[in-house]
Amino acid sequence: MAPVIDARGLVKRFGGRTVVDGLTIRVEQGQICGFLGPNGSGKTTTIRMLCGLLTPDAGSGTCLGLDIVRDARAIKRQVGYMTQRFSLYEDLSIEENLDFVARLYALPRRREQVAQALDRLGLRGRKDQLAGTLSGGWKQRLALAACILHEPKLLLLDEPTAGVDPKARREFWDEIHGLAAAGMTVLVSTHYMDEAERCHRIAYIAYGRLLAEGTIAEVVERSGLVTWKAEGRGVDEAARALQGRPGVEMVAPFGATLHASGTDAAALEAAIAPWREGRGLSWERIEPTLEDVFIHLMAEARNDAA
Ligand code: ADP
Repeated sequence: MAPVIDARGLVKRFGGRTVVDGLTIRVEQGQICGFLGPNGSGKTTTIRMLCGLLTPDAGSGTCLGLDIVRDARAIKRQVGYMTQRFSLYEDLSIEENLDFVARLYALPRRREQVAQALDRLGLRGRKDQLAGTLSGGWKQRLALAACILHEPKLLLLDEPTAGVDPKARREFWDEIHGLAAAGMTVLVSTHYMDEAERCHRIAYIAYGRLLAEGTIAEVVERSGLVTWKAEGRGVDEAARALQGRPGVEMVAPFGATLHASGTDAAALEAAIAPWREGRGLSWERIEPTLEDVFIHLMAEARNDAA
C-alpha cells in the first residue's frame, strides 16, 4: 500500500531564509508518527506544506495519494489539521462550534455527525458550555472533535497537548490511538518525551533537516550514543566536573542521578573513571533515553550549522 504521506526534498524559504531544507518524510497508513524537534525547526511549516496550505519552493510529494502542489484543495478536504493555537470561537458553545465546522464542510448528515462527535469525545455533558470557559484539556478535546468531524483519513496535529495537564494528555493520546486503530494516519508534533514514546515511529528535525527517523529503538540504536548513569550523593558535583571533558558530549542531572553520554565509548569511560571509585556514586551503563538522543542530535546539528 502506498504511504499516506510521501514527500521528498521539501524546501521552504521565507524572505531568503531556508526554514525547511530538503526534508523527506513518509508515513504509512494507520501509523502515528511523532514529529519532534526544537522550536523553529520547521515542523509547522512542513505540516502546512503537506496539507496544501503552503506551496513548497522545491521538492514534491503526495498526501493521501494526491499531489501536494496540484491537488492542494482536494487534500484539505481529507485532512484534519489541528493548529497549535486554539482556533475555534470562544464565544460559541461546544455544540455551536461543532455545528459551525460541520456547515463549513457542508456535511450531509450534519446533526447526526455533531451528535456523534459530542458522544465520541465525551463532550455531551458540556455541549452548551462556551468554548472560552473550557480548561486547556477540554479545549483540546473540542478541537480534536472539530477536526475529525468530516471523517478525514489523515490527522495533522501541531503540538496538540502543549500546556495540557498529564491526565488530559493521556486521555487525548488514548483517543489518538483509538483513531489509528480504526485506520487513521496521524502526524503529531510534540515536545513531550512520553508522547514520543507512544508513537509508532518518530521523525526528528532541526534547522529544517531530518536528523533521525524510525522506531524509537532504531533512532536510539542509530545515534551511536553510549550513556552512563550515576546514582548517589554528589551527582551534581560530578555533573559539573564532567561538563565539557573530552568524550563527554553531554551530562545532565536527573534528580538523584546523572546521565553522561558520548559517541566515543572509550573516551567517555576515561572521563568518568576518576568518579567511579571512592566517590560514593554507583555507575552503570544504560540504554540512552530518547531525550539523551535528541539533545545529542541537536548538539550535532548546531555544530554542523556553525
Ligand atoms: P516549528 O513548528 O518547528 O516551531 P516553524 O515551522 O513554525 O517551526 O518555523 C520555522 C521558522 O520559520 C521559524 O524561524 C519561523 O519564525 C519561520 N516562519 C514560519 N512561518 C513564517 C512565515 N509565514 N513568514 C516568515 N517566517 C516564518
